[in-house]
This record gives sequence, C-alpha cells and structure tokens, in this order.
Amino acid sequence: MKKIAVLTSGGDAPGMNATVRAVVRTAIFNGIEAYGIFQGYKGMLEGKIKKLECGDVGNIINRGGTFLGSARFPEFANPDVRKGAIQNLKNLGIDGLVVVGGDGSYRGAMALSREMDIKTIGIPGTIDNDICGTDFTIGFDTALNTIIDAIDKIRDTASSHERVFVIEVMGRNAGDLALVAGIAGGSESIIIPEKKESLEDVISRVRQAEARGKKHSIIILAEGVMSAPELSEMIKKDYGINVKYAILGHIQRGGTPSAMDRLLASRLGNYAVQLLIAGESGRAVGIQNNRLVSSRFEDVFEDEHTVDLDMYEVSKQLSI
Ligand code: ADP
Repeated sequence: MKKIAVLTSGGDAPGMNATVRAVVRTAIFNGIEAYGIFQGYKGMLEGKIKKLECGDVGNIINRGGTFLGSARFPEFANPDVRKGAIQNLKNLGIDGLVVVGGDGSYRGAMALSREMDIKTIGIPGTIDNDICGTDFTIGFDTALNTIIDAIDKIRDTASSHERVFVIEVMGRNAGDLALVAGIAGGSESIIIPEKKESLEDVISRVRQAEARGKKHSIIILAEGVMSAPELSEMIKKDYGINVKYAILGHIQRGGTPSAMDRLLASRLGNYAVQLLIAGESGRAVGIQNNRLVSSRFEDVFEDEHTVDLDMYEVSKQLSI
C-alpha cells in the first residue's frame, strides 16, 4: 500500500472532517501518501484529487461539515461512469480508497471494490445511525446533542404557554435519532417508523400528563413516519388539540462535532487504514460493544437496520 485516497459522500455529518484527518494522518504515519478526493464520487470522476499533507488536515477536528465537500451524484450507479472515475485513481497510482458516508455511498464503494483492484473500505458517516454492522455512526451523537438543545428550548416556551409541541427530527427511515433524543429530552411521546402506535395512545399520554398538572407536552416525531404539519393537523382534526410544531431540519447536520463523534471518527479512520495495510477490501468498519469491527459490504446490506425496542419501552415507562 503506497497511496490512499479518501472521499466523503452523500449527506454530510459532523465528524467527517475528523475522520478524514485520521485517515490522512494514519496513512502518513505509516509511510503512505494520502490523497483527498473533493466532492465525493462526482469529484472522483472529474479528477478533483489532491495530495494531502499532515498540515492540510490541521485545525479541522473541531469543524462540522466536510472540507472535502460532498455531492449527490446518482450517475455513479452507471458502471460506465464508474470506469472513468476508476481510471483517474489508477492514473495517480492510488491503491487504497476510503469512502466516508451512508448507505448510498457504501453501494458506490461496493460496486467499485468489485470492479477495480484498488482496495476499498467504508466508514459510516451519517447522522441517521441507520447503517448495519455498527452500533453508532459518525455524526449521530452530535445531531442528538443539537436535538436535545432544541427540545430544551422548545420546552421553555411550551411550558410558559401550556402547549403541546410536535418536534420533527431527521433520520430518514430510521427512528434512532427520535428515540434517543426523545428519551434524553424527556418527551411525552416518541413516534418512530419501527414501532407502530395509534394516535389514540399518543394523545392519551398527552392527556395523562395534562391531568397531573404538566404544563407542556412534547411529541418527538421521526421524519420517516410523516411530517410535523401532517401530524399536527391530524391531532387538531381528531382531538381538537391546538398543537404547535417545529421542524428542526438541517441544523441537525451541522455544528462542531461532539467529543464522542471526534473519538469515533479518529478510531474508525485509523482502523480503516490499518485494514487497507493488512490487505483487506470490500469491507465497512464499525463499532460494536466498544470494539472496532468490520463487515463485508454485502452483509451490511443484507442485514435490516433495527432500533432497540427495549429503549422504546423505557421511554414509555418514564413518560407517565
Ligand atoms: P448517503 O451515502 O448519505 O446514503 P446517498 O444515498 O445520496 O447518500 O448516496 C451518496 C452517493 O453514493 C450518491 O449520490 C451516488 O453518487 C452514490 N451511490 C448511491 N447509490 C449507488 C449505487 N447503487 N451504485 C453506485 N453509486 C451509488
């Protein structure tokens, strides 16, 4: 292994910079040249590839977003498009590739690893925590902290005005962000795609809270279920309760990464390069029970992402 390239792809996540820093520095520490590919797979095709030195990744461990940039580039699903991108790596003599991103980025990485003799490793970078083979993805913890901060603030105003609030959080089809933020934020109700619950039950908890004198109710809604305006409208129509809503949106993607995300990024970035040096390819790294692990891309896609429904039960018992 002489030259390793790294790219960030898909939805950005806090901690991607710390990941790139770890990849670049681990490579250089081991006598390997490091290259950054700008704008994800799009930049790979367009040849936006630059050699990086240790100093190029200085002062970024604390920064949100990704200095390499990211891009949505659906054309990459076309094998002919990938051929051009692979040729660009070959021209530079790159023999290892690290892809930081979510599910879609992994699909691109898996396709590449089958079509080229450049060894490829994926690192889970997404706030959604929706990737199999790892307990946590890079960015999840920071997004949770952002959501908790928002819940606390909304709670202040909800309490002053004795209001019911619906807070819509990201997560695509996964309920991880909603579930953990709902528990840590002390919400009355959590609505996630993985656990079907009737609106009747949700409202009965709101009424229960009201009956014991609670001045506000907070319902955390995962975007994968429905939108906050839709839910608010249903509650208004069916129960006559005038709810307010907040859609947290892209603030969840930004901000300085938390200590946990910086640590995870540093460990996984380092581990990805160690795997490349050991000759591994076609694998995604992750953390399970605080141990670094790797899984074949195929296995990551075969498994179905689930949330810990015991936590859902905890949330119910604590929101009485
Ligand atoms: P994320 O990685 O956060 O899930 P996307 O789903 O947008 O984000 O995927 C990121 C990029 O990965 C896409 O824009 C595309 O370039 C590439 N990609 C996604 N799916 C595939 C696929 N089936 N084959 C090849 N490349 C893909």
